[in-house]
Amino acid sequence: CRRRRPTQKSLEPIQMGSYAHWKGQVLTAEELNVLYEGIKLNNVNHYDYILTGYSRDISFLETVVDIIKELKKANPSLVYVCDPVMGDQGAMYVPENLLPVYKNKVVPLADILTPNQFEAELLTGRKINTEEDAIEVMDLLHKMGPETVVLTSTDLPSKQGDQFLVALGSQKIKKPDGTNTDQKICMDIPKVDAVFVGTGDLFAAMMLAWTHHHPKDLKTACEKTVSVMHHVIKRTITYANEMAGPGKRPTPAQLELRMVQSKADIENPTIVVEAKVL
Ligand code: ADP
Ligand code: ZN
Repeated sequence: CRRRRPTQKSLEPIQMGSYAHWKGQVLTAEELNVLYEGIKLNNVNHYDYILTGYSRDISFLETVVDIIKELKKANPSLVYVCDPVMGDQGAMYVPENLLPVYKNKVVPLADILTPNQFEAELLTGRKINTEEDAIEVMDLLHKMGPETVVLTSTDLPSKQGDQFLVALGSQKIKKPDGTNTDQKICMDIPKVDAVFVGTGDLFAAMMLAWTHHHPKDLKTACEKTVSVMHHVIKRTITYANEMAGPGKRPTPAQLELRMVQSKADIENPTIVVEAKVL
């Protein structure tokens, strides 16, 4: 969360705590279709995983949906990880008309969904004030499609104090007798007093990777995901504070995630956050 993006039309300087400048082009739905045509023509349209994130255009998102449907036909075991990036802390940073597309077309296709609290509330139309609310919202999201749902960050109070943020997860499990059950977990994540860019993307990527290794063990997949986050953020803030000097706040440039330096932790994280099974 606390992700600040420019509007893609204006690419203007944005709020403090993030980059001052944004450059580049926005891919259109037509351009995405052309790329996909090329992939098909070369017969390399077999995928095991798809991950999507920030998008702010209806026709682009609808094209993504069409492509994923086709790729799922080609490979029925394809896993689609969807980070439904729409907003944070009560404010949407994509156009409001994207919400019905996510609700009706994207989320039903998703196998793994990683909304933050605000996005989960938007998708379900339900507010989360308690752990019970969060559990109900995750069940509503399951009913919309995805068998794995992780609320990446919530405002729920942590039992470990206000220096922790709470994340929750839920995975549907098919029992051998055909009936359904689920595993629900909860994690307290130590907060660092800084704004990072790219943490939401890293979280979704790590959920993909660790559910690949632990497809039926949400607790382990989440513990490894959150532990990677912890190691990367710790390394980043330690470096940033050192660069900034005593008593000074690090700049966004100093807070660039220390990804390459964290390679070993990303591949094999020491577990530092234990998930509680609810
Ligand atoms: P989202 O809005 O999707 O929740 P964030 O980037 O805020 O995305 O959070 C994703 C994950 O990144 C969190 O679950 C947490 O593990 C980590 N994270 C992000 N910012 C912080 C922070 N300031 N302190 C500790 N962890 C953070
Ligand atoms: Zn997010």
